[in-house]
Amino acid sequence: RLQQRIHGTTLEINLNALTHNFNFYKKQLKPKTKVMVMVKAFAYGGGAVEIANHLQTMGADYLAVAFTDEGVILRKHGISLPIMVLNPLEETIELCSEFDLEPVVFSPEFYKTVQSFCEANGKSISIHLDLDTGMHRLGFEENQLDELKQLISNGNKIQVASVYTHLVGADEEIHRDFSLEQLERFKRMKSELEGILPEKTLFHALNSAGIVAFPEFQFDMVRLGIGLYGVEVTGKYGTSLRSISTLKTTISQIKELPAGETVGYSRKGMLKDGGKIGTLSIGYADGYDRRFSNGKGYVLIQGKKAPVIGNVCMDMCMVDVTGLDVKAGDEAIIYGEGISLKELADRIGTIPYELLTNISTRVKRIYY
Ligand code: PLP
Repeated sequence: RLQQRIHGTTLEINLNALTHNFNFYKKQLKPKTKVMVMVKAFAYGGGAVEIANHLQTMGADYLAVAFTDEGVILRKHGISLPIMVLNPLEETIELCSEFDLEPVVFSPEFYKTVQSFCEANGKSISIHLDLDTGMHRLGFEENQLDELKQLISNGNKIQVASVYTHLVGADEEIHRDFSLEQLERFKRMKSELEGILPEKTLFHALNSAGIVAFPEFQFDMVRLGIGLYGVEVTGKYGTSLRSISTLKTTISQIKELPAGETVGYSRKGMLKDGGKIGTLSIGYADGYDRRFSNGKGYVLIQGKKAPVIGNVCMDMCMVDVTGLDVKAGDEAIIYGEGISLKELADRIGTIPYELLTNISTRVKRIYY
């Protein structure tokens, strides 16, 4: 409560729900399948250090971040699980080595850079290989396999910890055939590489939606992201997952406005018949998307919907509380506890991932 008073907006994170979701996914997997958890982007907004700490006690096998500095922060906070870095800059190889982070290598040039670093510094380094089976974002193409095999054979200071690919639409039935094509392509590339890689090399392809849709393609490990954070994008798990976070804010002021008055910047909000508005301590700088302006978004106050009126401001927004018995200091739920992220995301044409990762660092995270 005290922290809420200091800033007004809090993200409450239920670590028991996180445990529940982790164990739920574990049950869907074969006993030998390892779990890498994506804690990139501040653990999808939940707070990377706290979530990584919790995952460490729960028995996650691997963590993944997007950039090297995200991994350095985890190491500086005592996280000891192996950490894969999805998109490291070549200039950060030395940092990766210093902090025991395992870069993803996605091109022959990058492989050679790592090799030169190892040779020049007498170091050996664990890496992961990204294979491009259709995403066309990063990764080795099938026609680069011979070159890759050559590099692997020459790079004896480099340990290939894992080889993976990423599905472009595991959560979309319409792309099921393409996902299967990607998985088959991955299998083909895997069988080419297996002979020259040590047996302990891990192969992996599935994200959260992939775990649901393609259980027969678990290989050695899966990469769990959004599902752990309580969002089940395929809908197939029904209510088995628990929501892990609730974004809450506080009403700063209540105003009674006569008919015809406008609300906020550019006079976009209009109370035709007059009424009552509540000003909330959350704005787009906190991650409350400006696209929620003018009725696109709503919050829950005392369990009732209060639509956004006018444009969302940087640090505040106004909601229509006409007919509600509310006062300054009362709480408003932005999402969680009755408002689903999926529904909110749909309202403004985005995805739950964006809403979660946009919650700014100035919003206090509270763990319970
Ligand atoms: N693997 C890779 C390479 C990713 O980029 C991501 C997320 O963007 C994931 C796995 C996790 O995906 P999800 O959050 O859908 O489980």
